[in-house]
Amino acid sequence: MFLGCHVSVAGGLNNAFERAENVGCEAFQIFTQNQRQWKSTILTQEQKDGFRIMRKNSAFSLVPLTAHASYLINLCAQEDEKLSRSRQALIEELQRCDTLGLEYLVLHPGSHGGKGETWGIETISQSIMSVFSVYKPKVRLLLETIAGQGTGVGFRFEELSTILTQVAQPNAMGVCVDTCHIFAAGYDIRSGWDSVLNQMDNAFGLDSIKVFHLNDSIKPLGSRRDRHAPIGQGMIGAKSFKILMQETLFRKIPGILEVPGGDDVFAENIKWLKSKRDLAYRL
Ligand SMILES: [Zn+2]
Ligand SMILES: [Zn+2]
Repeated sequence: MFLGCHVSVAGGLNNAFERAENVGCEAFQIFTQNQRQWKSTILTQEQKDGFRIMRKNSAFSLVPLTAHASYLINLCAQEDEKLSRSRQALIEELQRCDTLGLEYLVLHPGSHGGKGETWGIETISQSIMSVFSVYKPKVRLLLETIAGQGTGVGFRFEELSTILTQVAQPNAMGVCVDTCHIFAAGYDIRSGWDSVLNQMDNAFGLDSIKVFHLNDSIKPLGSRRDRHAPIGQGMIGAKSFKILMQETLFRKIPGILEVPGGDDVFAENIKWLKSKRDLAYRL
C-alpha cells in the first residue's frame, strides 16, 4: 500500500506536496476546493500548470493521487434544486480533478432523507449517469463505504455494488473502503480480514477497490457512528491494520489516513504502518 494522509491545500494547491512530504506520505488526498462551500473555484492556468509541474518533480509523480469531493454533494437529495446543484457540483469536481491530473475522486454516495434505500440507490445511479452524460471524466469516481449515520446510502457493500451495476461504467468507477466506516457499519475487521474481504469480493469484487481510508474508530462495531481515531487508539485496534498492511493484494493502492491530531499523529501513524508493511513486502 502507498501510505499517506489527507493534506491541507491552505495557501494554495501546490502546498500539498511539501506538507505531504513532511509527514512521510507516499500518496495523499486533497480537497480541490473548500469542501463546505457550493461556490465553485475556477482554477487559473498558472494553478493548473503549477500543480502538474510540481507533481512531476516530486516523489508523487508515479503514485495515484486522490481528491475528496465536497460533503455538500448529495446525489439523492429529495429537493430538485439541491439534487441539480449536487449534480452540477460533481461535474465541477470531476473537471477540477482532470485539470490537475488526479487519478481518483472519492464521494460519499448520498443520503435519502427518509425516502428509503431503494429510492436512494436508484436516484444516486441516475445522478451519476446524468453527470457522465454531460461530462466524461478521466478521473475515476470512487464511491466511499459509509458508517451508516442517519439515512446515508452505502453502509452495506451490496448498496455500492448495486449502484456500480446500475451505472454500468466499470472503467469510470470504483470503491474507496474506509476502515472506520465499515467497522461502524458492522463489519468486524478486528482479528482478521478474510471474512470481510470475501463479502466485498462477493458484492463489488476486490478489483473495484482503488483507495483505502485508514482510520481507527472511536465508536464500537455496528454503532453506525462516524468518529475517526488514530491507528491503534480506537475500537478496531492495531492488529487489524497490521494484517491489512501485509495484504499483498493492495500493494499498489493508496492508504490515506484521515485521523485527528494533526501532523505529528499523521507522521507517527504513517511510520508505524510502513514498518508493518515493510515486514511483508517492499514497494
Ligand atoms: Zn473516509
Ligand atoms: Zn468518516
